[in-house]
Amino acid sequence: MTSLTLTLPDDWHIHLRDGAALSTTVPDVARWAGRAIVMPNLTPPVLSVADALAYRDRILAEVPEGYAFEPLMTLYLTDQTTSATIAEAAASPHVHGIKLYPAGATTNSASGVTALEPLYPIFEAMEMHDVPLLIHGEVTDSHCDIFDREKAFIELALIPLVERFPALRIVFEHITTGDAVQFIENASQNVAATVTAHHLLYNRNHLLVGGVKPHLFCLPVLKRDQHQLALRAAVTSGNSRFFWVPTQHRIPVRTRNPAVVARAVTPRMRPSNSMQKCLMRRVPWIDWKLSPASTDPTFTDCHAIPRPSHSPSKRSLSQRKSLSTGALLCRFEREKKWAGL
Ligand SMILES: [Zn+2]
Repeated sequence: MTSLTLTLPDDWHIHLRDGAALSTTVPDVARWAGRAIVMPNLTPPVLSVADALAYRDRILAEVPEGYAFEPLMTLYLTDQTTSATIAEAAASPHVHGIKLYPAGATTNSASGVTALEPLYPIFEAMEMHDVPLLIHGEVTDSHCDIFDREKAFIELALIPLVERFPALRIVFEHITTGDAVQFIENASQNVAATVTAHHLLYNRNHLLVGGVKPHLFCLPVLKRDQHQLALRAAVTSGNSRFFWVPTQHRIPVRTRNPAVVARAVTPRMRPSNSMQKCLMRRVPWIDWKLSPASTDPTFTDCHAIPRPSHSPSKRSLSQRKSLSTGALLCRFEREKKWAGL
């Protein structure tokens, strides 16, 4: 084999940020992805359909000429979100989900939800209008160990939520544990999960052994290798309710905290490098990479969006990624050096 051709993929979880960052993040994703689910945790957050449409316009203004990138917008769920907003989101062709951040769980989550039960009427509206709920699934209790926060969220929040709203479509975002894999496997067809390249490539030993490597810090934090292996097994199992996503958790570099700066500059894990790493390490992964989720109707359906319209006629074959094995090896070696592997 001397070359690999990857069908144009979609990105089901991206942080494009806002302002000046868009001139970098948007061209970056538009060059390899057809569409992306755009996360709403800006400052201030994307709270209404009007906010989402304005943000969408800012994104589209940065798409390089010749690319047909389509941002799929989401709204940020807060304690103040109303059923009317849900109805409006359902009616918009550009809004494809509502993101739930437990308050304080991750970057820009200060406006997130503080309790689920008062939001039950909102979940009811989402169930009725068939608007998917995208969840950052970690408890924020300071007494809960950071490595147990996802597992605790499943038990305390997700299981009761799924039982109470069986028709609500849920995407458990960037899962990191075998517990989450098991939860998805046992859940109904309405419940799916994203898995990032970051959590497939690394475990907490990469982060901590020999000294903390801040560039590998990303929330939810890396877990034990047994969880990494469970995630790898899930994404290669053929179960289309596990979707791969690259990791582009970019954060502003305008900070004095060196650890945070490191996080901002390193997770550039586009398919063009992270997928190659996987390919070079584990040959069985090749089939997985060459069967992009965007061609899978079940996968696409989970986000309630139409099948991809990116036929070769819309995007010429020359725009697809084709890389020689030599180039892959070269880049892989460079990244290994960078990652200290
Ligand atoms: Zn995220």
